[in-house]
Amino acid sequence: MTNCEPRRIIIIGGGYAGILCANRLAGKLKSRARITLVNPIASFVERIRLHEVAARTDAEPATRHSLRSLLEPSVELRLASVTSIRPDEHRIHGVDTASNLPWAERYDTLVYAVGSGVPATAVPGAAQYAHSISSLEAAHAFRGRLAEVPDDASVLVVGGGATAIELVTELATLRPNLRLSMVTSSQLGPTLSVKARTYLERAEAMSHVRVFERTPVGEVTRTGVRTVDGDDIAADCVVWAASFAVPTLARDSGLDVDRSGRLIVDEYLRTARHPDILGAGDGSLVDGPAGETLRMACATAVPQGGHAAATIIAGLEGRAPDPFGLAYLVLAMSLGPGDGLVQRTRFDDTPSGTVLTGRPAAVFNELNNRYARSILAWERIRAGTYRWAKPPKSSRRAA
Ligand SMILES: Cc1cc2nc3c(=O)[nH]c(=O)nc-3n(C[C@H](O)[C@H](O)[C@H](O)COP(=O)(O)OP(=O)(O)OC[C@H]3O[C@@H](n4cnc5c(N)ncnc54)[C@H](O)[C@@H]3O)c2cc1C
Repeated sequence: MTNCEPRRIIIIGGGYAGILCANRLAGKLKSRARITLVNPIASFVERIRLHEVAARTDAEPATRHSLRSLLEPSVELRLASVTSIRPDEHRIHGVDTASNLPWAERYDTLVYAVGSGVPATAVPGAAQYAHSISSLEAAHAFRGRLAEVPDDASVLVVGGGATAIELVTELATLRPNLRLSMVTSSQLGPTLSVKARTYLERAEAMSHVRVFERTPVGEVTRTGVRTVDGDDIAADCVVWAASFAVPTLARDSGLDVDRSGRLIVDEYLRTARHPDILGAGDGSLVDGPAGETLRMACATAVPQGGHAAATIIAGLEGRAPDPFGLAYLVLAMSLGPGDGLVQRTRFDDTPSGTVLTGRPAAVFNELNNRYARSILAWERIRAGTYRWAKPPKSSRRAA
């Protein structure tokens, strides 16, 4: 490449992290870079609303948006699935969505922003018998299953975290005849403060839900689940909402990953062996200031998308990049239409005492969801608009 040629930057994944990164790069680098975003479909899916898609037929318009309309006009959109990354050749290989034919492309800089999906191999039987709401297709399939079973069918949600809670409370409110249960290996809302959990346990929607806490699931069967202790919990329909698994692309491509397959990146979001490959969002692993693992969330993915762009821009301008820093502010969840829970957090995501509940929390949660998408759109118009809270410098772990 001569110095005059634009830098070839490819972003894999059109989710929160990938779009923010693409728009910021396009706005800041202009003709200095040719930017392509690769995604299998032409839509951006607001995954944070998939519990709504699972429970209602009218939720999809708010969930699925034209990717092209969210991208800065100079960003090229390539509809394809990447199947391998070849770092030594600076190439990615994949399958074109429209033609189903193999496709390959060279890059100078690659951003890995592939997000997360259903943990198909979480326990035996999960892939065959459990539904999920981790992707739009999965949420559709689950809603389709609910349409087949009787109104008073038994539905068992595996998981006790925010996704499971949002799903079960949405179902409890909109499908009140269903017999709902949750089963979780720890406790309901494990990251909630006592005050927030007390509200959750007493919430109207949760009064329709039977909760099995400290009950790890060992197997999903045709008729429900079998716990690690060998007890059976029967259900007409099981839905796995316990954890997100990441695509195996980084692992399959020989990149450094953790046990779960997340791409390991440094504090600048670069991979150690291949600094021209950066990671952002659920598919990557970066430590928080105190060495803790940051939660998989759009609240994490969006700042990381912005920071990956900042690292790339700094490198092109010959500046040292800044380390990534993120101070969490809230943990917000819906408890069915009209109810919600917003827990104020310290910068390290641990709960502080303040909790907002009820309709004000539901309104906050809805505005927060809209804000997440607005950030992407604003960044399309004016790169650099979005800023996020950073942790205090004194909180950083000694090197
Ligand atoms: C029901 C539900 C509720 C949630 N609620 C919240 C919430 O309230 N707050 C919050 O902060 N987070 C929430 N989350 C989590 C949040 O949705 C994710 O953390 C967030 O979507 C991660 O963003 P991302 O950009 O990393 O990846 P994603 O949004 O998952 O996007 C990744 C993109 O990469 C594409 N991709 C994957 N593999 C390839 C490939 N090989 N080639 C090309 N493209 C590829 C995918 O198709 C996708 O478009 C929720 C999740 C769910 C499922």
